[in-house]
Amino acid sequence: MVKSLIFHSFNNNNHLRSDPFYDFNIKEYKLLLEEISKSIDSEKYTITFDDGYRSIIPAIEIAKKLGFKTKAYIITKKINFDGFLNEKEILRLFKNGTIIGSHSHNHKNLSLLSDNELEIELKKSKIILSKILNSKVEEFSIPYGEYNRTVIKKAKKYYSKIYISGPLIFKKKDIVGRLSIHRSNFTKVNFILSQLTNKFNILFILKIISVRLIKRFIPLKGYRKLKNLILDSKSINYFN
Ligand SMILES: [Zn+2]
Repeated sequence: MVKSLIFHSFNNNNHLRSDPFYDFNIKEYKLLLEEISKSIDSEKYTITFDDGYRSIIPAIEIAKKLGFKTKAYIITKKINFDGFLNEKEILRLFKNGTIIGSHSHNHKNLSLLSDNELEIELKKSKIILSKILNSKVEEFSIPYGEYNRTVIKKAKKYYSKIYISGPLIFKKKDIVGRLSIHRSNFTKVNFILSQLTNKFNILFILKIISVRLIKRFIPLKGYRKLKNLILDSKSINYFN
């Protein structure tokens, strides 16, 4: 069902400037990737990193050594900020084989923006990254995985590949599903492997459908509160 995993930050990057729900100790991350790569052909899979934290630099090295492809999606407003990648680091990652894509300029919920605001989020980040890399930027990862038809339509105007933060139940043209790794699923190696090897899992499909329904009816803040309650874990939004 998915060919890509998503990670965010490592070693509690700059203390609470990242969401602890998505933060990993680099050692536990390494163990997980080593475990996964024993059972799959890692060259066929991609480890992606959203938000552009500086702590992804060693994580990318680990993934590459194990044979995975790597991609990093950058929030362009955060470039050069404390705890985030700077321009030189982004260029170095790119030159060393990591695909660099946009994760919007401000990391807003794109499905709530006006046409004009949405246009800025998509276009500005593409221009900034293209300048840093001196190369075309073709990939976009949608913040919070929050999208609707307008977001996809506009995003396609600027990017040829659009990544979301959940697996797709049905294959779609131009949209790529990913599996987000977080505190409540990172020890479930068998589950992660079943996702990567296309094993049919009706319970997981039902879970995706119910999360999408819940998200449709309650705002993102409410969803995060509900998630924290159910999972007994702390998830904060550093970007809002
Ligand atoms: Zn993000």
